[in-house]
Amino acid sequence: MGVVRDIFIGLSENKILNDASKQIGLRFGAQKVVGGTGVNDTLKRLADINNQGMSVTFDNLGEFVSDRSEAEKEKNNIIKMIRESHKAGLDAHASVKLSQIGLGIDETFCYNNIKEIMEAAKEANMFVNLDMENYLSKEQSLTILDKLLEEYDNVGTVIQAYFYDAKKEVRKYKNIRTRLVKGAYKEPDTIAYQSKEDIDQSYFEIIKTHLVEGDGFTSIATHDHNIIEKTIRFIETQKISKDKFEFQMLYGFRKDYQQDLVARGYNMCVYVPYGTDWYAYFMRRLAERPQNLNLVVKSLTSS
Ligand code: FAD
Repeated sequence: MGVVRDIFIGLSENKILNDASKQIGLRFGAQKVVGGTGVNDTLKRLADINNQGMSVTFDNLGEFVSDRSEAEKEKNNIIKMIRESHKAGLDAHASVKLSQIGLGIDETFCYNNIKEIMEAAKEANMFVNLDMENYLSKEQSLTILDKLLEEYDNVGTVIQAYFYDAKKEVRKYKNIRTRLVKGAYKEPDTIAYQSKEDIDQSYFEIIKTHLVEGDGFTSIATHDHNIIEKTIRFIETQKISKDKFEFQMLYGFRKDYQQDLVARGYNMCVYVPYGTDWYAYFMRRLAERPQNLNLVVKSLTSS
């Protein structure tokens, strides 16, 4: 399994394939997990999901941008999607990766970009989630978040359960809207749990803490049915109101389960990545779960 994972991670980092994929549009089954390449096709996808009783969060694909003009272009793309989805009356919010709008270039430049996004979101009465990336960018991201929180109440972030200090962090942000995840990046054992068992345990702990200790809205972002059902049992015994939390899953994953949770009366928010930079995202999803290769096989056999 490790070999297959490494192959897809290698493919995700291949610059020639990344550049080529921008020219050809969604291929090889990527359309099942990416909402669209442009604003209009993505808006249609977002509306479809809303019509199934689920809210959406959109993510303009692309990360670790190292060029100022590129970062500004991405900022403008995000602002455009905020305005257009608001105009379309969608139940939507924005997920933003700070490395896409200049975090790796200069912190002040990045802060000014996210401020512009926050202003557009405020006008649209929309929430903005700062996605969390690797440990190296975490401290800078939290500094920016703390500064934004002095001025805005429509911003929140992600806490990654694999970090040893996740529980401390979840207490710090217990009163703001927070997405809780297991954590997606490879981090060393000096700072992060490594085994699935430890990560799952830490994850369930931070879910409980965020749900009961503060009054911030909790987004439980996972495809793991064991964690979800355990959380539901906890919520029922603690009599926690359904409007205090939601489940989140990625677009195209466990669609039946998403609908099942909606039918059971839970809030479900679907995370929809979109844009021409779809290739690395798609390869990482294949690396994470090689069973997703059936998307590729189906796309090749049905065309
Ligand atoms: P896993 O531990 O991958 O899976 C647990 C079990 O669930 C599996 O063994 C299997 O039985 C079942 N399962 C999982 N996937 C499927 C499937 N597709 N079909 C059927 N069964 C399945 N990470 C970050 O670091 N930063 C972020 O900002 C961030 N945002 C995220 C936003 C959303 C909406 C989601 C869903 C994830 C996000 N992540 C983020 C990724 C997250 O940290 C995990 O890496 C990712 O969700 C995989 O872990 P998991 O919780 O889904 O469960």
